[in-house]
Amino acid sequence: MAQPDIQTAARELADAIQAVDRIVVFTGAGISTESGISDYRSQGGLWERYKPVTIQEFLAGEDARRRYWQRKKDIYPTFAKAKPNAGHRAIAALERVGRLQVLITQNIDGLHEIAGNDPENIIELHGTERWVKCLACEKRIPRAEVQERLEAGEEVPLCKCGGWLKPATISFGQSLPEDILARAFEESENCEAFLVVGSSLLVQPAALMPGVAKHAGAWLGILNRDETPFDDVADWRVNGEAGPVLEAAMPYLLAT
Ligand code: ZN
Repeated sequence: MAQPDIQTAARELADAIQAVDRIVVFTGAGISTESGISDYRSQGGLWERYKPVTIQEFLAGEDARRRYWQRKKDIYPTFAKAKPNAGHRAIAALERVGRLQVLITQNIDGLHEIAGNDPENIIELHGTERWVKCLACEKRIPRAEVQERLEAGEEVPLCKCGGWLKPATISFGQSLPEDILARAFEESENCEAFLVVGSSLLVQPAALMPGVAKHAGAWLGILNRDETPFDDVADWRVNGEAGPVLEAAMPYLLAT
């Protein structure tokens, strides 16, 4: 299928959602690659250098906890220096004008919040790297603070209560929290438009959400570099980078 140029794609997107107030935007790794954060499934990514530590291994042994934190310590600078890009900014603008119902993201980089989206309005399916949580008392500490401690020589940082600290992300071997999933499905079912940005929709159960929205009668749009299993049922689809298309669509949307 031939792809329209950016302006045409942006115009089509704006036309489709300009009359709609309840828009759910669903983002995946593709929106963050433009901010320098590599898709962890892609070849040669930083994530491939270390064998992931499962939650079960983390809980079971000091060695695994040390390996876990070593990996986190090395990966963190990539997150710390990443800045939101045009795609993140466009989604934040959509919220500012009252058009965004909710933002569902598979990303853990926290860039949507930095771009200006209200944290209350972001469903982070896989948690966030910007915060660390105590597994015992659930106290949250900024990840940057813990990074300083790691760089000062701590290997397995502990909470003041003595509990293990762990980034507030969903680990390998851990299932997504029921309440977060339930909210995401409910929002998907109650929107007028569901726009996928930078996700290939391959990771379950998140990948079921576009289908839920479409089935409930929502308009479905997909903006992603690669093909997705929903391409055939999408009302609008563009294979491309997220930032340029969203940025080009915003003037049309904000003008209506
Ligand atoms: Zn604690």
